Amino acid sequence: MSEVKQKTFGGIVARYHWHDARWFATIGFAPYFIAFAGMVTSNVSYFGWSFDIGSLLGLGPFVLNEGFLMFILYFVITMLFFAGGLEWYVLCRHCPCYEFSGAEHGNENRFYCLGNWGSPKLFKHKPGHISRPAQATFLGFTGFFLLFPIVYVITRWEFVLVQLVVAISFMTTIRHWACSQCPNFGCVLNCADEESKRQFLEDLKSGNIY
Ligand code: SF4
Repeated sequence: MSEVKQKTFGGIVARYHWHDARWFATIGFAPYFIAFAGMVTSNVSYFGWSFDIGSLLGLGPFVLNEGFLMFILYFVITMLFFAGGLEWYVLCRHCPCYEFSGAEHGNENRFYCLGNWGSPKLFKHKPGHISRPAQATFLGFTGFFLLFPIVYVITRWEFVLVQLVVAISFMTTIRHWACSQCPNFGCVLNCADEESKRQFLEDLKSGNIY
């Protein structure tokens, strides 16, 4: 039986478990469902786009409106950022979990954490500081993920309200349950307290954690 290693040090999470990643995936995908409901039923059109996918498939007319087409684009762009490598470069490669979790899971070429489970380690680990442009990129994509659907539900105040409530709930949830205990101290959203960070960095340096 494998040894169960200590999860937190001074209140900071040093190693995530599969159920942490499952929780994060659940709350992370919830905004997509709300965006989908609002965008595919949207009557907003900025570019006059539509696409008759039904006729293309020989099934008779079934037209995707601009909101639907934009939802697909929005989904692809956000997934490319969060699961396609860019977030790993601007954010994850600075985290100790990025560097050390792979070996603990028997695969040094991958990393395992809250937002990534077995993602490839494409970039070299760079502990600590995250540059302003990298922080801005991360915040920009997060804002796009949470707020872009409003552009296509702007004519229906109830959808705008739901989208805003989802965005605020998502941010307050991750800030409270994830960012306050996250070992990626350079992240702009990190809100771990100073004493916990100091203690964690001391333990990290002395080799007590990994
Ligand atoms: S502080 Fe929050 S957003 Fe930043 S890496 Fe940690 S969990 Fe992710």
